[in-house]
Amino acid sequence: MVTEDSLEQVHQKFLNAKSAQGAWREVPLQKKLQAVKKFSDLVEDRKEKLAKILTEEMGKPITQSRNELNGLKGRIDFFLENTEKTLYPETVFSEEKKLEEVITHEPLGVISNISAWNYPYFVGSNVFIPALLTGNTVLYKPSEFATLTGLAIADLLHEAGVPKDVFIPVVGAGKTGQYLLQQKLNGIFFTGSYATGKKISEMAAPQLMKVQLELGGKDPVYVCEDVDVASAAAGTADGAMYNTGQSCCSVERIYVQEKIYLKFLDAFVETVKGFSMGDPMDEKTYIGRLTRGELQIEVLEKQVQDALSKGAKLLTGGKRAQRKGGAFFEPTVFSDVNHTMELMREESFGPIIGIQKVASDEQALALMNDTEYGLTASVYCKDPERARKILEKVHAGSAYWNCCDRVSPRLPWSGRGHSGIGSTLSKLGILTFTQPKAWHRRYPT
Ligand code: NDP
Repeated sequence: MVTEDSLEQVHQKFLNAKSAQGAWREVPLQKKLQAVKKFSDLVEDRKEKLAKILTEEMGKPITQSRNELNGLKGRIDFFLENTEKTLYPETVFSEEKKLEEVITHEPLGVISNISAWNYPYFVGSNVFIPALLTGNTVLYKPSEFATLTGLAIADLLHEAGVPKDVFIPVVGAGKTGQYLLQQKLNGIFFTGSYATGKKISEMAAPQLMKVQLELGGKDPVYVCEDVDVASAAAGTADGAMYNTGQSCCSVERIYVQEKIYLKFLDAFVETVKGFSMGDPMDEKTYIGRLTRGELQIEVLEKQVQDALSKGAKLLTGGKRAQRKGGAFFEPTVFSDVNHTMELMREESFGPIIGIQKVASDEQALALMNDTEYGLTASVYCKDPERARKILEKVHAGSAYWNCCDRVSPRLPWSGRGHSGIGSTLSKLGILTFTQPKAWHRRYPT
């Protein structure tokens, strides 16, 4: 039985993290790296158990929970291999025996990581691994929909040698997150929706602390006329429906060149009809239950009604599915959509997609950019120059050519507009947990 932290407990956890930070900062990097490596090994050893916790808790199909854990090692390895060189002091000016100018990087202090439920192992580790390696202490609040997963992460970090006051789980729902923000933190790293991210940045503003926000998306794909239609349809259908459509970088809008529009729709619908939905513990399941249950069914039903009332054509799905063990929604595909419809404007976060016909690259680009969000965007075509011209004008933090719904630890993960502020992953995602110190060193004459 898990109990929610009270305001007093959250405050005490903050005080503990604050007093532990000085000593943790002094722990040599090699020792911190050893603890993180041990954590990675423990995850590898207990993968099956950890996958089951996630699947039981949030309904992610078991094969996809395993995929998340398999991918975690690559992310952690990136931080293990790159933290030392990224933090190395940089001499930017030097006059022999006269003057030296050097940049070093210091931890922020006590940071809070408020995390989403959809990829708790992935999105959490993008924050807490580099935060710990750079000498911060971390107050980690998993989503109420992924509390047990969050507590399993904390246990493994502690077992790996990270002291209990250095990485502290904070348990509770949104209200607990608000308590956290009332503490004198040095940074808040939030993953979640635009609506909550906006509230958090307003609440954090008076403290002038660092605020980094990884928020939602309405990610577009443009499919050109020269592609292999079957493979583009299969790739984008997976991008739209993987994790039951509950990914920040899920494909949420598709624009298809008119010459292949009908052929693409057929291939896309055929792929989607092949997705099996049901018990997330079943090895064959591809679409699981919706983690937020009835709350998300309401969002999806509203988008369906709005699209139908404005003339969209329903090609498959469109309603809740009767399955045991939670709220399920049929994988849903609409054609003949346009930007007056909520389906093409608001984040759906479920197995539903609108596919719109376009006549030119210019029209596709204008539609791709017709959004407040800016997380990822992709172009499927043969010619790299054509893709480059479109993607360099796209308002998004990640640009994909012939792929989608992809994250690499070597590249910065960042959003524009309502998709957030700041970057995780890559060297930028290490430096973001530090503050620079500028050294002006003049030798005595
Ligand atoms: P929410 O915004 O609902 O919640 C995110 C976290 O914030 C949860 O831990 C939540 O707690 C907490 N929270 C809620 N209200 C407050 C508050 N007032 N103050 C402080 N903390 C609060 O998002 P979801 O968890 O539903 O995640 C889905 C969203 O996350 C989608 O929009 C998705 O696109 C986005 N996302 C973005 C990613 C990115 O990398 N850009 C990656 C993954 C997801 P609780 O859940 O306990 O209420």
